[in-house]
Amino acid sequence: MTGADHIKAFRLFELSHAESVGKDFQLDDWEREHLQACAECRGVREVFLRQLKGRAPLSPDARALATPRFNVGDDVHVVVPGEHMGKQGVVTKVVESKTGDFIYRYQVHFVTGGSDMFFAFEIGSVGTRGGSGPANP
Ligand SMILES: [Zn+2]
Repeated sequence: MTGADHIKAFRLFELSHAESVGKDFQLDDWEREHLQACAECRGVREVFLRQLKGRAPLSPDARALATPRFNVGDDVHVVVPGEHMGKQGVVTKVVESKTGDFIYRYQVHFVTGGSDMFFAFEIGSVGTRGGSGPANP
């Protein structure tokens, strides 16, 4: 079942968090199958796991998850494949992790309406701040 959408990052995060503290976490059937078949989702889970366990040195990508990269009011766009890919919006809220793992989430309000929560690696800045995102076409 690789035709389905990727597993949401927050689900992978919750899965990793549960694993890191030795708890059971129930994935949906399609999520479990997808995880077995999708290297990308396994990679994301691994990044979370590594960070949550805090042992192995973090890759630059993983470390980027650990500091708030965006602030409220930042213009961002979604850079990961999925239903919101390419959408632009504004960060309306920075949510600090409550579990002390330093993973931040960002609430993004889309210019086209609606909003969703993202991890730092799922969004890129638009415009001058940070200068890491591609230019607005
Ligand atoms: Zn996937």
